[in-house]
Amino acid sequence: MADLPFPFLRENVPLAPFTTWRIGGPARYLAEPPAESLPALLAWACAGGLPVWILGRGSNVLIDDAGLPGLVILTRNIWQEIRREGDFIVAGAGVSLPRLSKAAAAEGFSGYEFYIGIPGTVGGAVFMNAGFGPGDPRDTRALLEDVELVRPCEEAVRVAAANLHLTYRRSVLQEPSGPFAGAVITGARFRLAQPGDAAAIRGETRKHLADRKRKQPLTRPTAGSVFRASDGVPAAVHIDRAGLKGFRIGDACVSPKHANWIENLGSASAADVRALIRHVEDAVQTTFGVTLEPEVREMGGCARRE
Ligand SMILES: Cc1cc2nc3c(=O)[nH]c(=O)nc-3n(C[C@H](O)[C@H](O)[C@H](O)COP(=O)(O)OP(=O)(O)OC[C@H]3O[C@@H](n4cnc5c(N)ncnc54)[C@H](O)[C@@H]3O)c2cc1C
Repeated sequence: MADLPFPFLRENVPLAPFTTWRIGGPARYLAEPPAESLPALLAWACAGGLPVWILGRGSNVLIDDAGLPGLVILTRNIWQEIRREGDFIVAGAGVSLPRLSKAAAAEGFSGYEFYIGIPGTVGGAVFMNAGFGPGDPRDTRALLEDVELVRPCEEAVRVAAANLHLTYRRSVLQEPSGPFAGAVITGARFRLAQPGDAAAIRGETRKHLADRKRKQPLTRPTAGSVFRASDGVPAAVHIDRAGLKGFRIGDACVSPKHANWIENLGSASAADVRALIRHVEDAVQTTFGVTLEPEVREMGGCARRE
């Protein structure tokens, strides 16, 4: 095996343990770089013609069974700084959302309670505009001031939240030909705008966790909601009405508890999940004429959306 050019680079690393679905083959290269080494790492990948993927806590991705034949930058263990700076919380992109929620609460600010049950990172939350459903003001857009990101072959820049065009589960970062295609978010600044009473914040946080426990299948590996709502109607409504709760392909199963979630019953493969996603799309299209669009990001293989 040739020597690797960076100490933080590993070869042939299984990715399933880094996803909440526990699914996915190996990364050819996996890196956990300090922020200052990111430009050199991206330049190395570019020079070698390696595709690059960014993985936060893997809570909204479906990674192909064959793995990813390039470089995966894994942020869950790096870029972990979090501090108050005046009216802002500055957080590294690898900081988990529950940690951000607790940090805002500790500073006496409300508005961050909903992050407590979302098992992603700051980077993933910005990329996906994580939050509640369509039309609900509780999302990342409502809190974000700006981000720091690095594009291949460029210096790090700070970008105002307004320029990321965050809407329901979308951002300009997702556009393959957009101005930020391939950008790696390394950190973000969040506004501390709503002072809150400590007991009220604690109560709201507990309520979020209890609601999730009641409505969501939290005891099995999942990736949260699989499809976006269409025309303001939650995808779960269509899937439930199509009679698909409990429908199974291999070990991938439409959750009997929440129709928009797919559970891994044990040894589901990406192929099982992908086949189930396509089955649900077809059934809902045929029954109601509604086109469902996945929220989950497919990575590798014949992925439609990375
Ligand atoms: C139990 C459960 C509950 C959930 N509840 C919610 C919810 O209430 N609301 C909600 O919106 N989502 C929810 N999700 C989905 C998911 O947690 C969010 O979308 C989260 O923001 C994804 O963050 P991540 O770090 O896991 O991103 P990943 O899944 O690792 O990646 C998602 C996308 O973001 C990109 N990305 C990640 N980090 C970076 C970075 N630093 N720079 C550039 N791109 C990056 C990836 O390349 C990928 O395209 C839930 C998931 C689970 C499993």
